Amino acid sequence: MRVALITGAAGGIGRATVEAFRQDGWQVVAWDVRPYPEAPKDVWMMQVDVSDEDRVVQAMALVGERFGKLDALVNNAAIQITKPLVETTPEEWDRVHRVNLRAAYVVSRAAYPLLKAAGRAAVVHVASVHAIATSAQIAAYAASKGGLLALTRAMAIEWAPDIRVNAVLPGAVDTEMLRAGLSRGHVQGADVEAQLRALAERTVARRVARPEEIAQAILFLADDARSSFIYGHGLVVDGGATIRLSTE
Ligand code: NAD
Repeated sequence: MRVALITGAAGGIGRATVEAFRQDGWQVVAWDVRPYPEAPKDVWMMQVDVSDEDRVVQAMALVGERFGKLDALVNNAAIQITKPLVETTPEEWDRVHRVNLRAAYVVSRAAYPLLKAAGRAAVVHVASVHAIATSAQIAAYAASKGGLLALTRAMAIEWAPDIRVNAVLPGAVDTEMLRAGLSRGHVQGADVEAQLRALAERTVARRVARPEEIAQAILFLADDARSSFIYGHGLVVDGGATIRLSTE
């Protein structure tokens, strides 16, 4: 049976991704820093802080003992801080980069022997459209996601041909992270539902994504039967948000 490790598994996109892989017949190992008591019984839920390197190495050893290989790794865990750059402290900057970028490297590095052991394997980093186009008050997050896209290309070159490394770049997805960001966002005074509607209206698709739509893109890039010739790619899944000129 193919084995997938998914980080940030208790979040919006994480839960949908766990479900998409389960439906596709994978054995899923789910990591999150917070508990996920509703995880399906056939999922191995491990409470792991991906920014804690010792814990990552220890938990990965347990995965190795149990399965001996990993067919897919999905680096999905992330945090977001929305505030002007001059108000962002170095500690906040480091925290964002530690979870969103450094942990992708730390977890991937720890997973490498298990990915190699699978024969053919895939890493999917969950980046963001903020890697390629961004807005005010989200610099630390945007920089971390830009770094993750660069890491995708670097890893794809080093780990080819047996391990394919790609990224998904979601646009706005209806999850806790999006709602928290909007509630602190720059359109002060407007409620979150109104901001969600305004945001949806500006995309070509006229709506934000459901987490399941991102999960399907992740599964596509993880599955060697579906995407065997795709290496180092950043797949934008944003309802057309980034294709429109802001000057039009
Ligand atoms: P979410 O907040 O619902 O889920 C994120 C999950 O990551 C949470 O369960 C959280 O506990 C976990 N996490 C945070 N820090 C961790 C750590 N140190 N160790 C382990 N787990 C940790 O957010 P989401 O929207 O589901 O985001 C999933 C991914 O999608 C993230 O990489 C995010 O940057 C990306 N993304 C989201 C959107 C969006 O609009 N929601 C858009 C673009 C990209």
